[in-house]
Amino acid sequence: MHIINPATEEVIQEIAEDTTESIQKKYKIIQEGQVAWAAVPLEKRIAAIEKFYNFLDEEKDTLAVDLTREVGKPLQQSYNELNGARQRIQYFIKNSARWLAEEWITEEDATREKIVYEPLGIIANISAWNYPYLVGVNVFVPALIGGNGVLYKPSEYATITGLHIQRLLYRAGIPENIFQVVIGKGPAGQALLDLPLDGYFFTGSYRTGKYIAEQTAGKLVPVQLELGGKDPLYVMDDVDDVSAVAAAALDGAVYNTGQSCCAVERIYVHEKIYDQFIDVFVSEAKKLVTGNPLDKATGIGPVSRKEQIALLKEQVEDAVAKGGKVLSGGGPLSGRGYFFVPTVVVNVSHDMKLMTDESFGPVIGIQKVKDDREAVKLMKDTPYGLTAAVYSKSYDRAENVMKQMDTGTVYWNCCDRVSAALPWSGRKNSGLGATLSYHGIRAFVQPKAYHLRG
Ligand code: NDP
Repeated sequence: MHIINPATEEVIQEIAEDTTESIQKKYKIIQEGQVAWAAVPLEKRIAAIEKFYNFLDEEKDTLAVDLTREVGKPLQQSYNELNGARQRIQYFIKNSARWLAEEWITEEDATREKIVYEPLGIIANISAWNYPYLVGVNVFVPALIGGNGVLYKPSEYATITGLHIQRLLYRAGIPENIFQVVIGKGPAGQALLDLPLDGYFFTGSYRTGKYIAEQTAGKLVPVQLELGGKDPLYVMDDVDDVSAVAAAALDGAVYNTGQSCCAVERIYVHEKIYDQFIDVFVSEAKKLVTGNPLDKATGIGPVSRKEQIALLKEQVEDAVAKGGKVLSGGGPLSGRGYFFVPTVVVNVSHDMKLMTDESFGPVIGIQKVKDDREAVKLMKDTPYGLTAAVYSKSYDRAENVMKQMDTGTVYWNCCDRVSAALPWSGRKNSGLGATLSYHGIRAFVQPKAYHLRG
């Protein structure tokens, strides 16, 4: 398998892919180790994860550069991702013991009852490339702490990072017969679906997620899906500082070159402040430097996958053909690398793919609305349900909108953020189940009910 640098289109490394046989072998290796791992005291499992947490910091320069070379994100954002991953790990280190401890429920007369949390067994962690550290640690860290064995398949576009993760986990004392990286593309993921695993934890597109849910349904094991979105952001007419909101909305739309599951994908602005908002938004978008992600001045790197350029182009062309007006950017950069200039389109409507289909790139449509009612109607007009953001001076007014959103997350005066302490979950086509928070600790264990007499 060739690992390609999306900024230069050069082959960085050649890595051997796993075969169905080698994946079966890795499964057998973990089968031999999982029961012993589950018997290791919880504090020792947590101590190993703490070492991993320290190594991520110790090696951050190498890890950040490799991440940028492999997926194309601006270098500072690679550092941010490592830092964010460490914060999430810290949450798991601090909180797992509380949520995995046995719970005495009844202690009356002759009958005593308790709940004990046991590992699921061996799980698949099938992961995406856009934040390989973040979406990885959401799963393999609580899974390992919970006593599970993990077959971890990084996306083919984040393979070098996947191998770093494995190396650092082993260095931290996670046994080789508990964690194995599976290298490859779709067929390697398919091989995992064919194994009799005890849980499937997937981050990626709706299309693949749905396929995985269908393929594994008959196994009757937990399946969790963290999928895509078409996340709306609405700016009300009462915001104090329109310029600050425009800058925040732009950052939410283009951070990580727009390739965040919770990126702002469509914006609605109240007509009273629309012109002012657009002026600032567009002038800020034009200031963004698109180019070499290793260069400090760069705000927008290449998109990670070549095919995405054609999809973004198609969305912009479709919008323009239906009356959309491009106010900045508009297409790919010529020359080597998968670069797309940050693109702002107005005069948009829900007849356009730009406003209904996930873009996953630095393009954004902005639509004028006359009131909250119209905004809510448009925000809800989607098969996705990951996040929705509202900017307003009034919490009551914002809350009225947030309550109506059928999404796993809502934001007031912020957007495009994830907290380790809160559940991360999508509704409708955005997913099933939750990671992070205590929900994301308990997701990797199963309760056993003890009825005790005597
Ligand atoms: P994909 O669905 O293309 O791939 C996700 C993973 O599934 C990859 O490891 C992929 O392997 C693997 N895979 C592909 N085909 C199969 C198969 N038949 N069986 C098993 N596994 C398979 O998604 P992307 O990697 O392109 O990720 C981008 C998507 O992820 C976006 O939609 C984004 O919104 C979403 N996402 C959601 C998040 C959330 O928390 N809700 C967080 C991050 C991203 P390979 O890549 O090697 O082909």
